[in-house]
Formats: sequence, structure tokens, C-alpha cells
Amino acid sequence: MSTAPVIGHYLDGEVQHSGTERFSDVFNPATGEVQGRVALATQGTVDAAVASALKAFPAWSEQSSLRRARVMFKFKELLDQHHDELAAIISREHGKVFSDAKGEVTRGIEIVEFACGAPSLLKTDFSDNIGGGIDNWNLRQPLGVCAGVTPFNFPVMVPLWMIPLALVTGNCFILKPSERDPSASLLMARLLKQAGLPDGVFSVVQGDKLAVDGLLQHPDIQAISFVGSTPIAEYIHTQASQRGKRVQALGGAKNHMIVMPDADLDQAADALIGAAYGSAGERCMAISIAVAVGDVADKLIAKLLPRIDQLKVGNGMQPDSDMGPLVTAVHKAKVEGYIAQGVKEGAELLVDGRGFTVPGAENGFFVGATLFDKVGTDMSIYKEEIFGPVLGIVRVADFATAVELINAHEFGNGVSCFTSDGGIARAFARNIKVGMVGINVPIPVPMAWHSFGGWKRSLFGDHHAYGDEGVRFYSRYKSVMQRWPDSIAKGAEFSMPTAK
Ligand code: NAD
Repeated sequence: MSTAPVIGHYLDGEVQHSGTERFSDVFNPATGEVQGRVALATQGTVDAAVASALKAFPAWSEQSSLRRARVMFKFKELLDQHHDELAAIISREHGKVFSDAKGEVTRGIEIVEFACGAPSLLKTDFSDNIGGGIDNWNLRQPLGVCAGVTPFNFPVMVPLWMIPLALVTGNCFILKPSERDPSASLLMARLLKQAGLPDGVFSVVQGDKLAVDGLLQHPDIQAISFVGSTPIAEYIHTQASQRGKRVQALGGAKNHMIVMPDADLDQAADALIGAAYGSAGERCMAISIAVAVGDVADKLIAKLLPRIDQLKVGNGMQPDSDMGPLVTAVHKAKVEGYIAQGVKEGAELLVDGRGFTVPGAENGFFVGATLFDKVGTDMSIYKEEIFGPVLGIVRVADFATAVELINAHEFGNGVSCFTSDGGIARAFARNIKVGMVGINVPIPVPMAWHSFGGWKRSLFGDHHAYGDEGVRFYSRYKSVMQRWPDSIAKGAEFSMPTAK
């Protein structure tokens, strides 16, 4: 049995793994070595987390929103202090380059900053004297115990899409992080405790499907936020809805970038290199398809090839790396399988990232940057999410055809258009059937006070993540109508009450 250190759960304010019988290896993707073993929860672990949350809920939900916000202020300060430590944990378990991991932490901290405004975010409407001495106002109340299930590709940022808003709205929260990079969750738990969060308000249950099913089936969990691949998002949405839980389930993506003939092609090529190969393509907002309009394709390829040649692929902790490895050997094999499939289906492979090795790290899970031209919309490399450093070029005659093919795709997470024509940009923003739209911006991830979410099979549920949508998701709306005895008319009223 492996002697690698055990990564435990966080329950009742402590890291623990007693009673755990199942473990999963956590790799360092840059070397291929096992660096930890994460405990996999049983139903008993889930039950313990829920029991702890139920115990903490009454006192936490009764705290004023300002006091809850103060915990977030302190948490933000601690995240700043531990920024590099968190980024190093991400880089070591996920593989992404350190500077990118730091960016991830920053984007997570921004949600914490937004949540610091809890008193304002929870302030509601009041209508004075709607008639007969009656006033009407609204409350936004917590749901109770909420849970979040998160993917491997953003082990800090995606949990922070959920945790700050769930907590400041007065809920208790149980996080089930990805079993592939679980350690950052424990550092965040420690920092929340240090920030003054009472034990039980936040827990971490490490695990796999068994833990997720335990959360889905638990009658005391009121809401589930999920971020991950589309088949699992759909499963979570169905299972949670059937049990009457509130659910938001963000799924996979296949993001296009239209390059118009009037675009600045150097800017477009730089954007494509960063958006397709950054984080080795393991981003739900990565661009994996460039839609070259008119005669753009050959000119664009001429700009892309030297840039791909200069990409530095290596251990994410080395300062000169642009792109790190993929997360696991299994995922590397899957991505290489897609490249083989693309060749078989007739796409033109211009740069082949298969068999890529980094000297001194031959066992790392590296795949080099890969570029396909003449990708057809019937090919699996066009239709399916690859989640690796693979960019495909689709050639189309005009803008209308580009919009049509994007709108016909089953995913609708992010999209971008590079153009210098305002009319095209406006038509694109209005007509494209995708949740997050960039104009000359390749990765249009909304800021903390806007909300994040895709359309079509990229999101199941009614609410997008964070921003105002996040506040609504984590709170229950109540309308209160009140009058006092001196304004109550005598006798029963049998007609529909109306404002007088
Ligand atoms: P995944 O779907 O494999 O796993 C996500 C979570 O679900 C993990 O915590 C995992 O333990 C759990 N899980 C896995 N299999 C399960 C099962 N059968 N039943 C119940 N739970 C299960 O996703 P991943 O590989 O960790 O992450 C990559 C995917 O996430 C990509 O598809 C990417 O597009 C997507 N993603 C989407 C967004 C978004 O905002 N839309 C953001 C980040 C990642």
C-alpha cells in the first residue's frame, strides 16, 4: 500500500479521516508521481457533515449579515496572505503553471470581496402603506444546509464561486471537491476557521460518486451547486430536482472564436494561443474551435504556427513554463485518443502534440499543443469537449454561417468574435445563443458582481453562478404584509383584497 500522506475530510472544524477504508491516489501531473492519497467518504461521512451543519445552522443563520460579512473580510485578508501557498498547491496537484494558478486564486478572492457586501446584497424592497395601513416588504432568508460539488480544473476558484455567497446568506455549506486535486479545500477550510467561522458551518467531504450520491440523497440538504462535465451535471440536476432540492448544475463546453476578415490577426492569434493552450486547454472557457471567416484561415495559420513553436511546455512550478501537463495519465490518453480520431475522421493535423515529453520529467502527463485545420462539424473533435490543448479550425464563407453553426452546437458556455466592425459585433452579441460572449475578448469570464453561466447543455437549472444570481440561488424569497390593529376595519371581507 502507498505510504503517500493521507488527505482527509474537514468535519467539526478538524481534518480527519478516521474510519476511511477507500482512498484515491493524487498525482503530481508534472512528474507522474503519487503525492497523496485522498480519503473517499462513506455515507457515514456525509451524514456526519450534515449533522454538524444542522447543529451550527440556527446560530449562524441568526447572526446579522454584517457579522457574517466580517468573517468574509477576514477570510479575504487571509487568502491574500496565503495566495502563493494556495497557487503552489493548485500547480502541484492540477499541473497548471504557477502564474495561472495565482490568477485563479485572484478570481476566487473577487467573489469573497463581492460577498463582503452582504448587508447591501440582502437589503430588500419596502412598500409603505399599500392601502389601509398595510405595509409590504421582502426578506431573503437562508435555505439551510447547502452542498457544492466541484471539478478538478479550478480547485480554488470554483469552490469560491459557491462558498462565500452560501455563507453570507446564512447557510451552512458542505464542499465535495474533485478527488484529483483535493488539498486546496483543506487550506481554505483552515483559513475560514481562522477568520472566525464557527465549526460546522463549513465542511469538506472528500470523495467520489458515493459521496455525491450521499449528498444528493440526504433529506436535510436543501440545495446543490455543481460544476463539472455535462453528463454528470445532467445527472445531478435530475437527481436533485426529483428530491425537491434547489439545484444549479454547470456543465461542459465547446467554445468557438470567430475570426472575421477585418480582425487584427496578430491580436486574434495571440488570443487563440492563450485561450486554447493556457492551462493545457483544461478550462471550461477555453477556446477549442476557431471559426475562420472568408479567406482568413491560411493567414491565421501562418500566425499561429510560429507562436505554437515558441510555446514552453513544462513543470508548472518552473517560472518559464507557458503550459503544464494534463491532470492524469487517463486524461492524457483520452486527449491523445481524440487527436487520433480527428486524423481518422479526415481533419488536417498541422501540429501533433502526441508523444510529447519534457526532458527530466518523462513520466509527466504532457501533451503538446495540437492544431487541426479543415475540421468538419460532423467530426467528434468538433462535437465533443476534448479538454486538452487541441485547437481546431473550421472554415466558413461568411459571418451568418459562423453564427448558425455556433447556435447549432449542443454547448453554449463561452464564445468570442474578433472583428473591427461595430455592426458585426452588435449582431453577434445579440444573436449568438451562448451564455458568455466576448467581443475581441477570448475568455469572457464575468466579474464577481455579474454572474457566470452558459446556455443549452452547459447549464442545467435557472440560476447562473455568483453575482446577484448567486445571492438569489442561496436565499429564499419571502414577502411580508403587515398592519396593526388600529388600522384594521371591523368585520370579515370576502372579496379579493386590493390596494386602496
Ligand atoms: P467531472 O464531471 O468528472 O467531475 C466533477 C465532479 O463530479 C467531481 O467532484 C467528481 O468527483 C464528481 N463526479 C464524477 N463522476 C461522478 C458520478 N458518476 N456521479 C457523481 N459525481 C461524480 O468533471 P471534471 O473532469 O472534474 O472537470 C472537467 C469538466 O468540468 C469539463 O467538462 C468542464 O467543461 C467542466 N467545467 C465546467 C465549468 C462551467 O462553469 N460550466 C467550470 C469548470 C469546469
